[in-house]
Amino acid sequence: MTYASTRGGDKGTSFSKAVIKGLASDGGLFVPEEEVFFTPKEIKGMCGADYEDIAALVISRYATDFDANEIRDCVVKAYSAEKFPEGPCRLRTLDDGFSVLELWHGPTCAFKDMALQILPLFMTKAVEKCGESKEITILTATSGDTGKAALEGFRDVPGIKIMVFYPSEGVSETQKLQMVTQLGNNVNVVAIEGNFDNAQTGVKKIFSDRDFAAKLQKDGKMLSSANSINWGRLLPQIVYYFYSYSVLVSEGSISFGEKIDFCVPTGNFGDILACYYAKKAGLPVEKIICACNENNVVADFLATGVYDKNREFVMTTSPAMDILVSSNLERLIYDALDKDSSAVSDLMGKLSSCGKYEIPREALAKIKEDFLSGSSGQDEVAETIGEMYRKYGYLADPHTAVGIGVCEKVSDRSRHCVCVSTASPFKFNRSVAVSIFGGEITEDMDEDRISHILSDKTGAPVPSPLRELFSREIRFKKTVEPEKMQETAEDFIYDR
Ligand SMILES: *Cc1c(COP(=O)(O)O)cnc(C)c1O
Repeated sequence: MTYASTRGGDKGTSFSKAVIKGLASDGGLFVPEEEVFFTPKEIKGMCGADYEDIAALVISRYATDFDANEIRDCVVKAYSAEKFPEGPCRLRTLDDGFSVLELWHGPTCAFKDMALQILPLFMTKAVEKCGESKEITILTATSGDTGKAALEGFRDVPGIKIMVFYPSEGVSETQKLQMVTQLGNNVNVVAIEGNFDNAQTGVKKIFSDRDFAAKLQKDGKMLSSANSINWGRLLPQIVYYFYSYSVLVSEGSISFGEKIDFCVPTGNFGDILACYYAKKAGLPVEKIICACNENNVVADFLATGVYDKNREFVMTTSPAMDILVSSNLERLIYDALDKDSSAVSDLMGKLSSCGKYEIPREALAKIKEDFLSGSSGQDEVAETIGEMYRKYGYLADPHTAVGIGVCEKVSDRSRHCVCVSTASPFKFNRSVAVSIFGGEITEDMDEDRISHILSDKTGAPVPSPLRELFSREIRFKKTVEPEKMQETAEDFIYDR
């Protein structure tokens, strides 16, 4: 298996090289050059298997320059009981035909751990394989969860440093504390004045600065990415769609071969794209439901074929989904346009010059065979959280609640539907508590206190990574304007 850029360059790139580079040289995203397919027999063989076994099999088809032992080693280390004491993920069937796939039992309590615990292991092996001797700096923009998960995954990894930019507006108190108290000798965390799009745009600009890349190269250094544009991050996410299916079959909720739907709370379009790759690879999925909050640019695109980011950026209670430019959509468009990379380049050019593009009607029809979409606003999200608690005693975080709300609106429930749950409710405890118990109880309280009250009242334990967060030392206090990002990154890269 080799990889190429969605914009036509970098053909024949190995998995290892694609992981190290993150973004292709022409600014496009790496996509597999061959189709992967699992036969029904192979998928049947996954039913009842351990997460690690399914992960090793799925990953082996895409990471063909890794041998079986290397893959197993990465998988076993990434999803160990030390990192995921309750197992890598949990499928909870709440109602007939409706389950929630919890992906937040890792070290940072968000689904990003599923990929960011294994990406550093891929990268370390890839560096060895390619004989890469340059010092790598991972540069990441985060809307809150990626940053912490990437810091935790890359902390103290030899030969690699990591720098995270987060928007000063929009991350929760808990998310911010998780990042600014990060331990490790190779980490740096800086706040950007602005929102996530400002942070992401700034990071992309640093990546595409050719002079800067040349200077780094001369000095034996290079940049890489831990954002979901990196194929090494997308790949591990394909696994849990296969795993969910296998659990549903082995617990008897569906019969083998029966098609199901997935509903995915969407921001940068990484998680949901992994579901699409699982479907392409043979998993019996009928519809993939894209759930957005008020920033519903992607939901609108999937319905109309017009991508238009010229709209107000709304800060919501589900900040990880407050995004107007969803990078990974480029990979879907590439397929919808029959891999016409010059057409992709044109559209992406339009996106950066006027914030808008439209795909041809046939391409939209193709996308609609696989996708449905919808959005759920903050008031609905609060209602959904309350309803889930009253009906099932279930605590859903606001991102998960966007998914559940959209699922209720869009799915005809003729098939089993799995809604992906992307964060622990304790990570967003203020909105969860207000949604269930009303505003009075949390007024003037810090999130530490709210967590305890939420736990006392509902009987759900505060996840161990979030306990004592408020008493840790704050290590990173810097805030810079977006214009200063490159300079700040350079200082870190050169240990200045
Ligand atoms: C990152 C994130 C999302 C969105 O996932 P994408 O892959 O960016 O679409 C949803 N919910 C939570 C809690 C997240 O951290």
